Amino acid sequence: MSSENPSTDPASIVIAVDGTSGSGKSSTSRGVADRLGLRYLDTGAMYRAMTWWMLSNDVDVHDADAVAAAAGKPVITSGTDPLGPRIALDGADVSVEIRSDRVNAAVSPVATVTEVRSRLVALQQQEIERALASGTGIVVEGRDIGTAVWPEAALKLYVTADPAARAARRAAEEGGTDADAVLASLESRDKIDTTKGGAAVPEGATHLDTTPYTLEQAIDLVVDLAKKAGE
Ligand code: C5P
Repeated sequence: MSSENPSTDPASIVIAVDGTSGSGKSSTSRGVADRLGLRYLDTGAMYRAMTWWMLSNDVDVHDADAVAAAAGKPVITSGTDPLGPRIALDGADVSVEIRSDRVNAAVSPVATVTEVRSRLVALQQQEIERALASGTGIVVEGRDIGTAVWPEAALKLYVTADPAARAARRAAEEGGTDADAVLASLESRDKIDTTKGGAAVPEGATHLDTTPYTLEQAIDLVVDLAKKAGE
């Protein structure tokens, strides 16, 4: 784990970005990492890769014991380039598969399983330590980064947006047109994530509601916050 005094030096800053799906947290996190020359870790992609492995290996994603028993098996490797985040499962790139409707529907139940969370949190902490050891800070995006993965992050954000804005953005990202169906899927995941998953507002987090902002404006705001954290 890192030291008790959080560093705000770009070479060793950790920015924890939590919040809801479709809030703009992924695009904002990638933009901030690119602007500040930091690595980027999408922890949601790791839960999605774990879920894709369960689906591909005929594990019943609603059977928590079966998911727990298999949680140690998949080999998950995360790329940390903000301009081209990739994720591999047992050596094969699954960046496209993890965005499928099957994964959207199954990821939240899988993410509530303790063995899944403890394994992925440990992998995420290793990834952060690796970035810092190589002399680069990192933006880490997820649901429990400021609470469980790296509570000592120098800057913690909690990103939200109005439901209609979230659904429209996610529908555009996923290439679909049915914003109502997308909103229903987002709300169902939020409900599981906040009741049984690890999602919570971290202590000391700055709340960023992206509804009124363009992506560039949201990135500017966070870059300013990161600079202020260093003053
Ligand atoms: O961020 P994204 O929507 O891709 O995350 C997919 C799912 O992964 C979330 O709905 C949540 O169930 C789970 N997740 C989690 N903890 C994280 C990141 C994602 O439980 N740190």
